[in-house]
Amino acid sequence: MSRMRVVQVTQADGPFELVEREIPQPAAGRVRIKVEACGICHSDSLTKEGTYPGIQYPRVPGHEVAGIIDAVGPGVVGWTEGQRVGVGWHGGYCGHCEACRRGDFFACQWGQVTGITYDGGYADYMIAHASALALLPEELSAIEAGPLVCAGVTTFNSLRNSGARPNDVVAVLGLGGRGHLGVQFAAKMGFKTVAIARGSDKEPLARQLGAHHYIDSHTQDVAGELVRVGGAKVVLATVTNAQAMSAALGGLGINGKLIVLGAPHESLEVSAFMLIGGRRSVAGWYSGTSIDSQDTLSFSTLSGVRAMTEVYPLERAAEAYELMMSGKARFRVVLTTDSR
Ligand SMILES: [Zn+2]
Ligand SMILES: [Zn+2]
Repeated sequence: MSRMRVVQVTQADGPFELVEREIPQPAAGRVRIKVEACGICHSDSLTKEGTYPGIQYPRVPGHEVAGIIDAVGPGVVGWTEGQRVGVGWHGGYCGHCEACRRGDFFACQWGQVTGITYDGGYADYMIAHASALALLPEELSAIEAGPLVCAGVTTFNSLRNSGARPNDVVAVLGLGGRGHLGVQFAAKMGFKTVAIARGSDKEPLARQLGAHHYIDSHTQDVAGELVRVGGAKVVLATVTNAQAMSAALGGLGINGKLIVLGAPHESLEVSAFMLIGGRRSVAGWYSGTSIDSQDTLSFSTLSGVRAMTEVYPLERAAEAYELMMSGKARFRVVLTTDSR
């Protein structure tokens, strides 16, 4: 077969189009992946709506890719045909810009983003930079792996770099696609894990995911409750609600840190006295590079962390995307290519 199916967007705010293309050959430094599964992420809207600066069309979205290397381009070292790999948001790094030379590969000035600066995983095949590849453990299915290389690495990597230590209070704000993974990772890392979400109906799920405490932000004072359990070393903000983030700040303990993963349009409200008095901070976190994804996959295999997913065939990408964006998905939506 020399043709493949892709789901592309041809203009900002345009519809998803299922079309056939020639299967591409990998250029130098790249591999071709036979895609098995690709998760849908809220950030795919940057491709769909054209809000990513400089995006060019047509473009195939998708940065929660899991599949098998089926062709290797010239000059690629360390990767071979037949290896199972994942590709996340970070689309590769150059290795020679100033950020890379300082070891900050995530901030590479080359700026490659899967599904945005090059075609992503809503397809039977995709081409990826070798530096974007994470090795998949045998024990994980492609459907399990997809969400872990974006929603997973973002929560896992921020938590493991947060400075929190076992038995510290770590609160996860929000119980959606990222939050339901964040709660699992926090509990498995040995943190006193607090889940914060709206409504008492989410408490059983939060507890099932490993939360030791649950705060219903509708009826309870989030900051007050966090103080009551000792003050949070970390609040991991997975929501995209500036007000909810600001409301949790008062729950930070001494040296506590609010880590922002979700990106609201509004600004946060922060008291300078609170920051200074308790040496508290507000920080953002970028998901991670391919080796961070690989660690996420490995830790998830080891500890049993999995995303809850709803699965759709590739040709129903538009419908699957709508479900994801509606906020009604439980909790990540994954496309598969093996429906033929
Ligand atoms: Zn994503
Ligand atoms: Zn670079």
